[in-house]
Order: sequence, then C-alpha cells, then structure tokens
Amino acid sequence: MDFLPTSVTKLIEELGRLPGIGPKSAQRLAFHLLKRSETKNQSLGDAVSGVKLGVMSCGTCFSLTSQDPCRICDHSQRDRSQMCIVETTLDLIAIEKTGEYRGLYHVLQGKISPLDGVGPEDLRIAECFARITAEDSPVREVILAMNPDVDGDTTALFLQKKLMPFEKVQVSRIARGIPSGGHLEYTDEATLIRALEGRVVVQ
Ligand SMILES: [Zn+2]
Repeated sequence: MDFLPTSVTKLIEELGRLPGIGPKSAQRLAFHLLKRSETKNQSLGDAVSGVKLGVMSCGTCFSLTSQDPCRICDHSQRDRSQMCIVETTLDLIAIEKTGEYRGLYHVLQGKISPLDGVGPEDLRIAECFARITAEDSPVREVILAMNPDVDGDTTALFLQKKLMPFEKVQVSRIARGIPSGGHLEYTDEATLIRALEGRVVVQ
C-alpha cells in the first residue's frame, strides 16, 4: 500500500498487531481516526502511551492494580477463607462483575502451556501455594477458575495435585457451564454465576 501516506500505513500496521484486529479492521480504524479531531486523537494517544503508568502487580494476589495491596486484598469485608485462582486479571474482572463472589483471588498471570514453553515456575504458582499453606493461612476453600481449554485443564490438574496433601483445604473447579474453548472474559454473567455455583469439589 505504498500509495498511502506513510503515517497511515504505519498506523494500520500498528493497529493490526493488536489482538483480535485483522487487516481490514485495522484499515477501518485507521480511516476512522483520520476523520476524528486532532484533540480526540491526542487524547487517545495520551491514554495509549500512559497506560502503564502507575500500574503494578498486587504483591499478594498478583492482580493488576494501582495500589499494593490491591483493593480486593485490602477490603475488610472479603471472605478470607475462600480463594479463587484465575489465569489473568481479565478473568478476575469477569468474576467480580457477577457480584456473587466475596472471597479473595490469586492471579497466576498465565497458564501452564508446554507448547509455548510456559511451565509452573513461570507463573505465580509458588506464591499461590505459600498463601494457601502458610501456618496462619485462613484459606479453607480454593476455587480453580481456569478456562476450559487444554492449557487451562493442565493448569487446574497441576494445582489440584499439588493441593492434594492439604486436607484442611477443599478444592473445587468451576462447573462446565462455560463452552469448551470459551473464555471467562467473554462469558455472560448469568453463565458465570451458574459455573461458580455449580463448582465441583475435586478434593
Ligand atoms: Zn491483591
């Protein structure tokens, strides 16, 4: 597309690198941005370049936060006997949106994926066990809320086996109301609530 101005081609290229944006969507977005006011585009540019400012991982649950501990870990009304283990902060958000879960979380920051070379040591699994197995740990129920795909299953099974010796902790996995290969992030709230309620005790 050498007939297009370089700035436009560059923008199409950059947008096309984003997940879920194919070449056609990238073109459409770039042409949409060309029509918008300079001020609006500036504001978008500022938001993009500043997105990482003040963002950190909670030192306890490893969710994305602007304060450490995060607001959930720090909240006095959360049920500290329940811990829901999720892959990413996006999954945490999906569960929070249901308004049905009042326990704590642990964000693994990914899932075990042998094909992508991601092992347990690359995730926040050691920190997760430290929280559960600490002498004074209040955790009595662990809910595995991995996504229902191969890597999610591998991760859930790994955690389940590791938690087996800890008899004081009940381990459950959210029910399969979520379509196979579907993602928590894109699952509607009603389905997610059913999946949480119908969690199956695995240990
Ligand atoms: Zn936290």
